[in-house]
Amino acid sequence: METYDAIVIGAGHNGLVCAAYLLKAGYSVLLLEKRPVPGGAATTEAIMPDTAPGFTFNRCAIDHEFIHLGPVAQELELHKYGLKYLPCDPVVFCPHPDGKYFLAHQSVEKTCAEIARYSDRDAQRYREYTQYWQSLVSAIAPMFNAPPTALLDITSNFEAENWKDLFKMAGSPQKALDFVRTMLTSPIDVIEEWFETEIVKAPLARLAAEIGAPPSQKGLAIGAMMMSMRHNPGMSRPKGGTGALVQALVKLVTSLGGKILTDTAVKEVLIDDSGQAVGVRTATGQEYRADRGIVSNIDVRRLFLQLMDSQVVDETLRDRVEHKIVNSNEAILKIDCALSEAPRFEAYNHQDDYLIGSILIADSVNHVEKNHAMTLFGEIALDDPSMYAVCPTVLDPSMAPDGQHTLWIEFFAPYQVAGAEGTGLNGTGWTDSLKEKVGDRVLEKLAQYAPNLKDSIIARQVESPAELAERLGSYNGNVYHIDMSLDRMIFLRPLPEIANYTTPIKNLYLSGAGAHPGGSISGMPGRNCANVFIRKQQGLPQKMIDAQGKTVSGLRSLFGAIFS
Ligand SMILES: Cc1cc2nc3c(=O)[nH]c(=O)nc-3n(C[C@H](O)[C@H](O)[C@H](O)COP(=O)(O)OP(=O)(O)OC[C@H]3O[C@@H](n4cnc5c(N)ncnc54)[C@H](O)[C@@H]3O)c2cc1C
Repeated sequence: METYDAIVIGAGHNGLVCAAYLLKAGYSVLLLEKRPVPGGAATTEAIMPDTAPGFTFNRCAIDHEFIHLGPVAQELELHKYGLKYLPCDPVVFCPHPDGKYFLAHQSVEKTCAEIARYSDRDAQRYREYTQYWQSLVSAIAPMFNAPPTALLDITSNFEAENWKDLFKMAGSPQKALDFVRTMLTSPIDVIEEWFETEIVKAPLARLAAEIGAPPSQKGLAIGAMMMSMRHNPGMSRPKGGTGALVQALVKLVTSLGGKILTDTAVKEVLIDDSGQAVGVRTATGQEYRADRGIVSNIDVRRLFLQLMDSQVVDETLRDRVEHKIVNSNEAILKIDCALSEAPRFEAYNHQDDYLIGSILIADSVNHVEKNHAMTLFGEIALDDPSMYAVCPTVLDPSMAPDGQHTLWIEFFAPYQVAGAEGTGLNGTGWTDSLKEKVGDRVLEKLAQYAPNLKDSIIARQVESPAELAERLGSYNGNVYHIDMSLDRMIFLRPLPEIANYTTPIKNLYLSGAGAHPGGSISGMPGRNCANVFIRKQQGLPQKMIDAQGKTVSGLRSLFGAIFS
């Protein structure tokens, strides 16, 4: 039987990041991936080779912000393996039915000048609002890059600026309480507190909803940071598509001696008599052994409930994983089009630059709210779809034949369609005719703003939430493996007792979007998990040496912040 130090279940970008760190630390690693290509929700693929030859599509993730809040790309020197980020500027274009439009640049000042065309008050408020959320991001980002229970690691991640921002946000009892109050509110509460015009409020609500819930949901105010991150650290895309990040990771992993087997689904995690994870069995019956650990790039629900014998997981924990981690019904219907020309927003003083960032169709806060809330009831916002669209080939023409373009659309839709239980794919109610009908409606809506769209479509693929869930394997088609609600964040993700990338099963580790700090392209769960894995191998003395060094550097930057 082939034996490695570590086996990673799933070659999503977090699995690959984790493998890269383990390989760099000298461990041998095998990655097993169920799909024919690595990357999970971070692939770029030629999905319509017959009808759209020469076009490549980001099947899921497209806009990268979170990865710039952590050190993964720099530490792994991914530029040496072909990764090149192309910055987006402008970052958001949101046309409204009355001919007005919100245009956000990377520069806050330029964005305020755009807003001032409609409201001086909102322009001024936008400056302060962005400052507030940027300070908040700076105050919490050090937590993203460490295991949530590793206080020393978190402390050592704080630079002087982070400490300053932490004190600014929560440096007195009054500030701390107001910080907690803000976190308990909803994105809409926050947006209404700051702004008066729909032209500003609607796109902010739409971006906040990217966290995977209607913007009225209490406890999800954090979604408001989505816009501020587009100003700093900024938003960008890898040249060649999100898959170029994966390709760079694959090159790094294989150059370090890592092995990746695609078309290899893991069916079972093997546990020995002492209760320790020792290997995996694939769908074809092949067994592989790991002497030091199994890392799961898939979430704990799939791991414990699908890949492990019920006898080996503690009954209480298994029950909690099954019943305490419930995902909402909100999922994504994805549309990819090959276009003969880029969409033109004729009634909005069209500039090709508008197409560089994300195009949001969000006519009002209520429009966004209704679209997202309907999914919770299993309903589809067919009458008036709101959406997030991107024309990636304006920034990166390499993804389509000369002069031609692609269109990426994300439309939030229910996983389980109400009234259609037990029919369609996996009983979700999704059929080919339903998804094409929804695809038609979403494209019709976008064509109201960009009338040349319909005649420019060379080919299209609509993927229903049920198909997307099947492709990625995620429970309820959840974009982030597990809902990103407040009760499943930081040291509560996925559950308080397993929030440190380890599990009660010895040598079984959790990585991926279902672990802290959660979904998106960040590589953070992969890196944090690798650090926990490596420390476990090192034993106590090394840990103490690390802790000492980290405490000293953390205290140094704390005093630096206080006295600067
Ligand atoms: C439509 C969509 C759009 C998105 N857009 C953005 C965006 O613009 N920006 C952003 O930051 N984030 C975005 N996200 C979220 C982001 O893509 C994910 O959170 C992130 O890619 C998750 O990475 P991961 O490595 O943790 O997990 P995954 O990418 O899900 O990787 C898990 C891997 O495990 C494999 N696997 C599953 N079961 C098995 C098994 N039994 N055996 C072997 N392998 C298995 C899967 O095939 C997959 O490759 C989007 C997600 C979706 C779905």
